[in-house]
Amino acid sequence: MKIFNSKQAVHNYISELRSKGNTVGFVPTMGALHAGHLSLIEQAKKTADIIVCSIFVNPTQFNDKKDLENYPRPVDDDIKKLEKVNCDILFIPGVDEMYNSSEKWTIELGNLDKILEGKIRPGHYQGVTQIVKKLFDTIKPDFAFFGQKDYQQFMVISHMVKILRIKVKLVLCSIVREKDGLAMSSRNVYLSPVDRINSLALFHALSKFRDLYKIKSVAQLKAEITSFLNSAPGIELEYFEIFNAKSFQPVASKRSGSIIALVAAKVGTIRIIDNMIIEK
Ligand code: AMP
Repeated sequence: MKIFNSKQAVHNYISELRSKGNTVGFVPTMGALHAGHLSLIEQAKKTADIIVCSIFVNPTQFNDKKDLENYPRPVDDDIKKLEKVNCDILFIPGVDEMYNSSEKWTIELGNLDKILEGKIRPGHYQGVTQIVKKLFDTIKPDFAFFGQKDYQQFMVISHMVKILRIKVKLVLCSIVREKDGLAMSSRNVYLSPVDRINSLALFHALSKFRDLYKIKSVAQLKAEITSFLNSAPGIELEYFEIFNAKSFQPVASKRSGSIIALVAAKVGTIRIIDNMIIEK
């Protein structure tokens, strides 16, 4: 695997490969890689000739300074994992390589940065789009792979790609879970043993949603699952919502296409998000 810290160097290297007719698949991450990230690499390998992964803990998308400082950065382990799955290129820049101190970024995201994650984490999606745009400009991928785990992020990036007319095909990849159902996340390592058990309430809530989906109305589902989560031990519920998966608007009835249930909660001090899609 070739490792680059410089935008220009990785750009030149990839341009050379592209000029020989190779397609480029890109997997942006913040590192602390787990099987969820590696599944994106596997999907990329099925789709493109050259696989590029980036690791960059992007400061502009953190609204909590402590969270940024504490974010895990096991770089040597990450490199070993990427080598094991035959990733071709790792781009791992420093903060100064990606930002200069005076720059500003604002993109119109409509409702997307005012609801759910956008509401709870003000500025988060501005930071996400800012870095993803820079990474797309550097790598110029044909395909970019994102996890369903961060579904709203996928909607945000799809919106950006559309309005800025970026030539990239976005691919949404399924959520990889631990054996007991917890969605894998780099922050899970910080769950205490008790919180790790309590955290399962989110997956149980979504499974309950899936199981009851055929026999209950949207209003009943919303009320029952919310009440289940509110009474789950150690869970501080932030939201449980039932949305249309395409329009990303709340649904009132089940008539409206694919449905996604989204949940966010604090488990101890750790924030966890998860979701489940019910295809029509
Ligand atoms: P992150 O490093 O958390 O920014 O995540 C990088 C990419 O991996 C994003 O597209 C995430 O949605 C995706 N991802 C994170 N966790 C999972 C998971 N459990 N399953 C599948 N994809 C994931």
